[in-house]
Amino acid sequence: MHDNTYLPDHFLRHIAAIMPDHLSMDEFVASCRRPLRRSIRVNTLKIGVPEFVLQMQQLGWLLDPVPWCETGFWLSREDESVPLGNTAEHLSGLFYIQEASSMLPVTALFASDKVKRDGILLDAAAAPGSKTTQIAALMNNQGMLVANEYSSSRLKVLSANIQRCGVTNVGMTHFDAKVFGQWLPETFDAILLDAPCSGEGTVRKDDDALRNWSLASIDEIAAVQAGLLESAFHALKPGGVLVYSTCTLSTLENQAICQSLLDKFGDALSFDSLADLFPGADKACTAEGYLHVWPQIFDSEGFFVARLRKHHSVPNPLFKPGKLGKFPYLPLPAKESEPMVREIGANFGVAPRGVLYGRNDEIWLFPEVFGELQGKLRFDRIGIKLAETFKKGYRLTHEWALAYGGAATHGVVELDSNNAREYMMGRDVWPELAAGSGEVIVRYQGQPLGMGKWVGSRVKNALPRELVRDNNLFNG
Ligand code: SAM
Repeated sequence: MHDNTYLPDHFLRHIAAIMPDHLSMDEFVASCRRPLRRSIRVNTLKIGVPEFVLQMQQLGWLLDPVPWCETGFWLSREDESVPLGNTAEHLSGLFYIQEASSMLPVTALFASDKVKRDGILLDAAAAPGSKTTQIAALMNNQGMLVANEYSSSRLKVLSANIQRCGVTNVGMTHFDAKVFGQWLPETFDAILLDAPCSGEGTVRKDDDALRNWSLASIDEIAAVQAGLLESAFHALKPGGVLVYSTCTLSTLENQAICQSLLDKFGDALSFDSLADLFPGADKACTAEGYLHVWPQIFDSEGFFVARLRKHHSVPNPLFKPGKLGKFPYLPLPAKESEPMVREIGANFGVAPRGVLYGRNDEIWLFPEVFGELQGKLRFDRIGIKLAETFKKGYRLTHEWALAYGGAATHGVVELDSNNAREYMMGRDVWPELAAGSGEVIVRYQGQPLGMGKWVGSRVKNALPRELVRDNNLFNG
């Protein structure tokens, strides 16, 4: 029981006025005070669900499927001595710690037969990246996903999560998401707007989530949400699909925002009913077909999800191309890129897929379809950094290892758990193997941890300093 959960009277009165008749306030309050069940999402870019379940059951994990996400599970562990985030499986990106209801928006997006998985998609408010990585997994790293985040301090964690999960098809941008309708009209095949909100649904994980709750602040954030949704709608291609979601409960931030779009653009759009999204979805479905997930319905956080289709173009008074500055990358000429791709393929049994670009002494691997966005948007980073060059050659990056290392068939050093732990602590390791030579992908349980280099019988550690962990790591 979370007795300290702050639920002010004026908030409860506001909720009582909007709670549907078939739900009870007592249950709402009781569920807000109950701790959340832990949940994770398996990252299918790295491992299949049956394989993951089998592997973790052997470690005493109990996994209970989330009915609305094929890769989602509630989790309980016999041994909780190592924090979930420090387990080997988390560090190597096999799963993402994500609240179950927060898996709904992406499920709703991809349940639409209209989503082009190899198209150009937008995640308009992306950090810390739970849904970006969920979308990238469903795209199977094909096409391109623009992941935008306005807050500078949250970009770093977004980038780290993208890397850890082996995502290669993302271009990260750093703008107020209002710019997309202005700069890139009718560009995206599908859009997720997981909007900034007052967070009323999050009290079960944050006792103080409602500390500054007021109707005035809701009005303020609702105005931002309406602007973001209108802009995202302009950025959507006709025929495209858009999901609007929040982790809040007020109708002012949810139903009213969707209604404002309908009022503005009429028959240019319609909302799909999500009543059949999964068995039991109807319990959270509103008359309009939105999912309004009260915490007591599925014993989860509160959430709101609406999915719309754009039927035809609308006049766009916002349109004004953005200022881009100089694009600092150049495509690598074929005479340089082809031998490099061949050599990597020969050394590791897996070759990079995408287009190689150079910038100073860096070589980047961009998604194939990046060309369609080139010259239209300024990116913070695109795809993955593949290698750093120096006088006599190049050094493959940590990102390359995390994205491609699981598929490598040679050029790999498999560590035991003791050595894997040493490696994650930034130390060199002496595997009990015949010494090899050159750069290697370092793996544990078949999953890449990073790069290393043989020096005699030692593998020199190439883990980036910021990823070095020094305590409470998985057991050796
Ligand atoms: N989609 C994320 C996930 O699943 O991990 C959570 C997103 S959170 C609900 C909303 C995000 O929007 C926050 O990271 C916030 O910094 C960002 N944000 C706030 N105002 C924004 C704006 N005007 N444009 C884009 N992002 C914004």
